[in-house]
Amino acid sequence: MIKAKSFWDRDDIQFPRLLAEIAAIGLTLDQKIAIAKSMDIDASKLAYLFGRAEVEWLRIKAKTIDGDKTRCQDCNQIWLATDIDPEIPHLHERVGPGEPMPDGECPDCGALCQPVKTKSKRCK
Ligand SMILES: [Zn+2]
Repeated sequence: MIKAKSFWDRDDIQFPRLLAEIAAIGLTLDQKIAIAKSMDIDASKLAYLFGRAEVEWLRIKAKTIDGDKTRCQDCNQIWLATDIDPEIPHLHERVGPGEPMPDGECPDCGALCQPVKTKSKRCK
């Protein structure tokens, strides 16, 4: 099994995040001109790239922060639900009647992972 990477190690998450954060903080006109010149593009295309990065970052945040995560019941590692294998060997021996259905197996230790509950879903 391919080991899933943590959020921090994933270029597909951190690169759009970095660009979106740079765009949010803002660059000086001189910095924008220098980057566009270095990339051999005009400044309007640079703004378009920052816009694409922000859209991608918002999509990732919606997917990863708004509840699509799963936690290993043994080592407590949190994974994107899409990054773990949903096939669970011997499922019926590992999950009893009435127990919550796991998302899959932890790529690190093989224990079962359960969805991370958000506050809005928690019962009082
Ligand atoms: Zn684990």
